[in-house]
Amino acid sequence: MLKVIKANDGYLITDSESGFEKLYSVKTNLIDLNSVDSLEELSVYAIYTWGVEHVNLTGLDVRAIKETFIQMQRVFDDFPFIKGTLKSVLHKDMQYMMSFLPVDSMTKGEIYFNSIHYKDISRIEKIYETETLIGGAPVGTKFQHAGIHEMGHLVMLAILNNLHSDSNVVEEHWLTNIETSKIVDEAYDALFNDVTSVEKLREFVENSEGMTSAEVAIIFKKFGRVAGKAMLVAEISSYATEDAHEAIAESFSDVYGNNDLIVSFGQVIGEAFLDFYSNSINSCVLSKHILQVVNERSR
Ligand SMILES: [Zn+2]
Repeated sequence: MLKVIKANDGYLITDSESGFEKLYSVKTNLIDLNSVDSLEELSVYAIYTWGVEHVNLTGLDVRAIKETFIQMQRVFDDFPFIKGTLKSVLHKDMQYMMSFLPVDSMTKGEIYFNSIHYKDISRIEKIYETETLIGGAPVGTKFQHAGIHEMGHLVMLAILNNLHSDSNVVEEHWLTNIETSKIVDEAYDALFNDVTSVEKLREFVENSEGMTSAEVAIIFKKFGRVAGKAMLVAEISSYATEDAHEAIAESFSDVYGNNDLIVSFGQVIGEAFLDFYSNSINSCVLSKHILQVVNERSR
């Protein structure tokens, strides 16, 4: 059992199972995630840096968790208001690779690692790769971006808490996808209400032979908004089609995993389209717009 005791100017970490005992000074190198090489240190990192209350990583692969933490930290950097809203980082036997659960009357969240898959980094790498092939995760992302996906849920929960002080209302929004659906719709509309972009797209479609589903979606726009949106969400991943929550979480994974930095949100819609139609491995155009809307909501 890992214990963290607050000491004078740091934390005393002990683990009765492994016999680990170390005093971490707040003033020294505790915060450098890259130099961390034990589960105990990762636990301290989560507690100290993210304000997590409970951590249990016992038995998991250090490298797998560290790589995931490095990615999760990026979301903490970009959305600093979520600090303190992640209550626990634990593991459990479950069907999913990772999972997210709102707790404490919807004010905080818990993130879980799969107890079996995360015992071995090569195992989780393979599982994630297979998942990606069948649409369970966005193309171009790696296993550590599953952590980004769960962080997307945490950001969304924090936004709902910022918008509504009544936990019943937060819960209602969480369960019914009211706000998340609005975000996806807004992103979609921002994408398609731009005349310049539509011109660019028409030009592109006229000059191209094969068409991707996203391109077909543009044509669908003429026939129906619902069909077009569904197709563009499916472009992110099959899992994104589950509901608006998953569309947003998958957009997080897509945008971060494909290294489209949040600064790119400022680009004009036409540029986003050009990005999308070049052959580079970029995140899906709707993912970027979804994160842009999430980002606006978080201010
Ligand atoms: Zn999810």
